[in-house]
Amino acid sequence: MPNQPKVQDVSTKETGTESRKQFTPGGYDIDIAVTGFPGKSVCHGTLGWSTVALLRGRGRTCLIDAGSMSMRKLVIDRLSERGLTPKDVTDLILTHSHHDHSVNWTLFSHSRIVIGEAELEWAVNEPWGETPVPELYVRELQTWPTLHAVKDREEVIPGMTAHLAPGHTPGCLVYLLKGEKHDVIFTGDAAKNRAEMVSGTTDMTYDAALSKSTIEMIWKLWRERPGTVLVPGHDLPMVQENGVTRYVGKREAAIQAWYGDDLESQTLFRLTEN
Ligand SMILES: [Zn+2]
Repeated sequence: MPNQPKVQDVSTKETGTESRKQFTPGGYDIDIAVTGFPGKSVCHGTLGWSTVALLRGRGRTCLIDAGSMSMRKLVIDRLSERGLTPKDVTDLILTHSHHDHSVNWTLFSHSRIVIGEAELEWAVNEPWGETPVPELYVRELQTWPTLHAVKDREEVIPGMTAHLAPGHTPGCLVYLLKGEKHDVIFTGDAAKNRAEMVSGTTDMTYDAALSKSTIEMIWKLWRERPGTVLVPGHDLPMVQENGVTRYVGKREAAIQAWYGDDLESQTLFRLTEN
């Protein structure tokens, strides 16, 4: 597997270790362990290919979201490629309760688990079997000893604050990490992808009007400091360059299928733009 894009590699001009340090916002190395994909299947429901970001620094190893159940082995592998095991993760920071972001909290049950207080309260009352909320997992999480349910504007780790971003779900959180030169914004599904951010309209939202004002709020945070990196819940990281949205890193997404009579004959579908 080729290397995943590193947000710190956003630098286009500087090279060498000094410049790498510059792109270690707030004293954390940011590494996109799994890059989310901005699409859904046509005939089989949602894909749930979500972003899992790794933050290391200041004595902590944090994950922002933990992927879907089908990503369990992948998440373990991506940690292992970086010399880590799930036990090394000190903080699991969840953007919201949907299964493709939260269900793997059980892999990190020893970690401090951060989720919005309002989100969890809403999620445990969702009807069973009807929504993307993993009902039993959120019920268990509600009383888990290492749970840390946070409020709007609360600092979740040194230098990073939670911002209530309702719409996709009522208690979605966006996380803002303050850096020396620029910030990093983890939007989760409050803005799932580039199309939602740029158009200001959203798919799969609990409240379209709320989502719209949430996206405006995210834009305000994004424009505040030049070079700020936005990491969506289902897309590559992005930056603003002279008013144009530019992806950081390279997309990797493909499906292989067996249409023949043996396992050797495979058809590969690349899901990249070109
Ligand atoms: Zn979601």
